[in-house]
Amino acid sequence: MTDFIIIGGGIVGLSVGKALIEQFPNAKIVVLEKERELASHQTGNNSGVIHSGIYYTPGSYKAKFAKAGNESMKRFCEMHGIDYEECGKVIVATNENELPNLHKLYERGLQNGLDVQLLKKEELLEKEPHVNGLEGIYVPSAGIVDYKQVSFKLAELIRENNGEIHTNEEVKAIDERSGEVVVETGNKTYRGKFLINCAGLQSDRIARMAGYQIDMKIFPFRGEYYYINENKRHLVKNLIYPVPNPEFPFLGVHFTRTIYGEVEVGPNAVPGFKREAYTKTSFDFKDFLEISTFPGFWKLGMKYYKVGIEEIVRSFSKKLFVKNAQQLIPEITEDDLTPAPAGVRAQALKNDGTLVDDFYIVNGKNSIHVCNAPSPAATASLEIGKEIVNKITDIKENNKAI
Ligand SMILES: Cc1cc2nc3c(=O)[nH]c(=O)nc-3n(C[C@H](O)[C@H](O)[C@H](O)COP(=O)(O)OP(=O)(O)OC[C@H]3O[C@@H](n4cnc5c(N)ncnc54)[C@H](O)[C@@H]3O)c2cc1C
Repeated sequence: MTDFIIIGGGIVGLSVGKALIEQFPNAKIVVLEKERELASHQTGNNSGVIHSGIYYTPGSYKAKFAKAGNESMKRFCEMHGIDYEECGKVIVATNENELPNLHKLYERGLQNGLDVQLLKKEELLEKEPHVNGLEGIYVPSAGIVDYKQVSFKLAELIRENNGEIHTNEEVKAIDERSGEVVVETGNKTYRGKFLINCAGLQSDRIARMAGYQIDMKIFPFRGEYYYINENKRHLVKNLIYPVPNPEFPFLGVHFTRTIYGEVEVGPNAVPGFKREAYTKTSFDFKDFLEISTFPGFWKLGMKYYKVGIEEIVRSFSKKLFVKNAQQLIPEITEDDLTPAPAGVRAQALKNDGTLVDDFYIVNGKNSIHVCNAPSPAATASLEIGKEIVNKITDIKENNKAI
């Protein structure tokens, strides 16, 4: 029998695998991934930013793990020869109305223990000469990396420690018994002492499969991006973000440079009618029925219908998208942008229509379920892995005591 079965070969599942081999070097670990390649979903389609932790509620998992993860991710890259860059980012107030929220964000950065600097207009223009802004915040610790490369390295480490990683293995049934978890894929039955669910866009379904009636569903938000054509890449030096709407858990349309030199702008955050909804026409009847009969969906819709409609309209109108992007970089035109691949974000939505803000981890009897790990979970992944191992140790102690 295997000691640990991990469902999901994204960066969170693989980080859990790494933390497990460090804590339990003799344990047998199996990772099950339904796709042909690891990191095929959120991990392989994200912006590649190593976040700093400025945005998040002080004391939350996100605040703690983004700050610590920013450091541990860079150390991991250095140790394993993975390219990353600590390029820093600016958050920009483009009009007077945004200044109070910019100043609050600066205070939050300080509360979260970060090195942040307020920038006057001239200082902002020194960092980003083409930006339109009254004031800004500079966050030097933000960086860029390719999280696929990080994931592949994590997988290599797991294999080197006799861990098994099976791709093309979709988990279809789970039977959690006392002292044993039985996992069925179409191909094989796996037996383990403990299960860790890191299934991203499918994590709520896996938790229910294991018998846990959690009060949330994963709601897919497609993030649509454009590349800035090569001749205009000079308009963006590093990472440029707007002041986010504090009501909404997204960061707004921003400009980011990738470790390969491309510059992306986006996203439109559009509700998906399929869990893995990578195109505008992606539709799955079962997924649609599930979400449209979920009370939280309608409550969310009533609360955010204006923002939601704006995002959908912008998804179909490049002109409107460019108008939005021009708030930060006025020189950008429609001709400068080429569609880039989209990513789908797994965001947990509660029955009462609230979007779960923090990472959300549910303890089972012989299992743990990572039920909300949206951005900045790639940055925070190594820390999430360590946290899960601490939780497993506690659960095992409790089980022994019973
Ligand atoms: C557009 C976009 C931009 C982002 N930008 C950033 C950023 O710049 N910085 C940052 O820190 N974060 C960013 N994020 C968030 C970050 O990518 C995610 O938080 C992180 O990748 C989550 O990792 P994961 O392993 O939980 O999920 P995933 O990478 O989605 O992995 C889950 C895996 O589980 C597998 N799986 C699902 N069901 C089953 C099953 N039944 N059986 C077997 N396997 C299964 C899936 O195939 C998948 O590979 C972004 C996300 C998106 C979508």
